[in-house]
Amino acid sequence: MFKREMFFSALAAFLALTLIVASLPAAAQSGFLSTATPPPSPTNNGGNAQWTILNSTFESNFPKGFTFTLEATSTGGKIVSAAALWRHSPVSSRTRRLATIDESGTKMVAVWEKSPGDAVPQWAGVEYWWVLQDEVGNIYETPRQYAEYADNTRKWHRMESDDIIVFWQDGVPDEIGPLTIAAMERQRPFYELNWANPLGYKPRAIIYADFETWAEWSPGRGTVGGGLVVVGQTSQSWGATAQVYDPFIQPVDEVANDTVLHEVAHLYQYANGGTSGLTWFIEGSATFFELRSGPRIEQRVRRWAREGRLPTLQERGPGGREAYDVGYMFWVWLTETYGADAHRRAWELVRSGRTQRAAIETVTGMNFLETETAFRTWLGAVNPEVPTPLPTLPFFLPPTPTYEPTPRR
Ligand SMILES: [Zn+2]
Repeated sequence: MFKREMFFSALAAFLALTLIVASLPAAAQSGFLSTATPPPSPTNNGGNAQWTILNSTFESNFPKGFTFTLEATSTGGKIVSAAALWRHSPVSSRTRRLATIDESGTKMVAVWEKSPGDAVPQWAGVEYWWVLQDEVGNIYETPRQYAEYADNTRKWHRMESDDIIVFWQDGVPDEIGPLTIAAMERQRPFYELNWANPLGYKPRAIIYADFETWAEWSPGRGTVGGGLVVVGQTSQSWGATAQVYDPFIQPVDEVANDTVLHEVAHLYQYANGGTSGLTWFIEGSATFFELRSGPRIEQRVRRWAREGRLPTLQERGPGGREAYDVGYMFWVWLTETYGADAHRRAWELVRSGRTQRAAIETVTGMNFLETETAFRTWLGAVNPEVPTPLPTLPFFLPPTPTYEPTPRR
């Protein structure tokens, strides 16, 4: 929902970038890892040697980072170079750290420590593997293993279904788990109908009981300045949405039935053409997946239409709350008028490179001005002709980062 909406685009891009940058020094130090992207399934894996994995561990040191250890041998001789590699979702960039190796050439330790700009929330998934080189030059890539960046410093709860993994900090009402699982299951056919490309991974929802815990994993992230704070973020690079629960803003059933579904829709958007562009297009589409909010939004937007206050979608269209509400109604209109698969078709066109406006024009068979007039007429606008936007209107950058006034506590 609006209040909890984040940075989900700009920050995720920033994060992905810092992950890549962070991995470069390691690559530069290591001869055999100088290729930026070693193939995930190497041919001739292991070279002429026989490799044996004796022990492999992952340890979360949240909030500081995590540690990989490996004990392995090669019949080719001592292991002289080793790196742990990992990623937080199948669509995120991978990171690597060179390991220190003991004198026997069999025991390795690689450590990741968070830094400003290179941090992930607790309970991010970790898919990891090692690339090893022995003293005669054989190279071996270990099989993939999976772990979680567990927060062992406080009490958390976890529930998992076919659709989602939910983590909630002790203090968040426990209904959040089953409610979220039920909501995701109920919406499963709707996601399948409306997105051509599946996520390719199971999304995670991480719900914090207090702001301090949320702000801890990446100091400074919660504070934006100007008396505003960020209370949530959704990121493709960790395949998750992280949200602070605040009962005074949103009851738990709304978090489960609206917020999480909305944020998961943003993850689908990443996989189906991206989240940049027109705020009403992006946020309206994400709101389209909320289970409960629809009737209230419809009431509000139809009232604006009756009172002649409906903002236009021309140029960049509305910003802020109006973008979410009018955008939502636009997708309702489009799918009611042009078929239940109209959202899916429009996004497929965007994914194939069409602009958002051109994609909609293709679906409706009208130019965008005619399309908007038809939409406004359907809403019952007293002024269905599209008003000319004032040239002095400040346009909002999409998607609108949203903040909440600081006095939370
Ligand atoms: Zn959103």
